[in-house]
Amino acid sequence: MFELTPQVQFALEATRQAAMLTAQIEKELVSAALTKEDRSPVTVADYASQAVVAAALQRAFPNDTLVAEEESGYLHQPQSKQALQLVTQYVRRLEPTADENRVCAWIESGNGKAEGRFWTLDPLDGTKGFLRGDQYAVALALIEDGKVKLGVLGCPKLDPDGRLQANGEGALLIAQLDKGSWITSLRNPQTFRRLQVSPQADIRQARILRSFESGHTDADRIQAFAAWLKIQAEPLRMDSQAKYALLADGQGELLLRLLSPGKAEYREKIWDQAAGSLILQEAGGKITDLRGQPLDFSQGRTLRNNRGVLASNGILHAQALAALQAVGAVPED
Ligand code: AMP
Ligand code: MG
Repeated sequence: MFELTPQVQFALEATRQAAMLTAQIEKELVSAALTKEDRSPVTVADYASQAVVAAALQRAFPNDTLVAEEESGYLHQPQSKQALQLVTQYVRRLEPTADENRVCAWIESGNGKAEGRFWTLDPLDGTKGFLRGDQYAVALALIEDGKVKLGVLGCPKLDPDGRLQANGEGALLIAQLDKGSWITSLRNPQTFRRLQVSPQADIRQARILRSFESGHTDADRIQAFAAWLKIQAEPLRMDSQAKYALLADGQGELLLRLLSPGKAEYREKIWDQAAGSLILQEAGGKITDLRGQPLDFSQGRTLRNNRGVLASNGILHAQALAALQAVGAVPED
């Protein structure tokens, strides 16, 4: 079992509260949005989630550094008045003392320096999934000198038994370095179940997980990769780090993040990978970039030294790396 240290207690509770708040916002605002293009629900959920995690961190560990995805600049603009009011209303459900200034200050406290020892937060990973009613996650991790020590994922749309369910109970996952990966119910966390990757050793039987959004990967090359390896099953398209949860639970063997053709210069953000990567590794899986290099979390807010991501159940990793090379998915620079 993992150790219930003050850091673990904070990370579990803050992520859980933020994930449940985003689920409430989804329920109350996404279906009420006037058009499909209306992104305001995701804006409100994103900022509210960051504010409540930042507030909880300041209370628990006032001297700790937070590196989070969002800045408060947008909320200070006159046209954002309504959004800021809504964010504040939601934050008040968890932080009764919240007002607009405090909310902005909490969000702004996520602008810490990504060096040494710090927390990194994706307040709402998979925003497109959130708007579609699909998967999304709140992701929080503790990094020390480039090493992920602790990772927590709150996945409101993932059932704790690991099976996808659109209106499932929600899942809360935690991994602590050298202590395994664990899953419990988001809404009613009681006993934790240990996660273990798939034992599948025949790559033709592998199931591939990829981003739902084609703009975040290279769908054609994923097809070429699957054909090269004679993988039969269609890739599972899913938003957010919920993909790592599935892989850690043995419901898939390979996760591919190829460079999208129009954006080869894109570098992964640390908050998009930190929590998920530890959860996968502690469940027995392996994660590298497309060139086989370990993810390097010592380079600030992005994985500057890495190109894309390959995650696997471990057994199939070397074969998958060779196939990536064969289909030209490994960038040269
Ligand atoms: P996914 O849910 O797998 O689509 O990943 C979502 C994350 O992809 C978002 O949090 C973005 O930060 C990130 N992202 C945005 N653009 C790209 C891109 N061109 N390539 C890879 N990831 C991206
Ligand atoms: Mg994200």
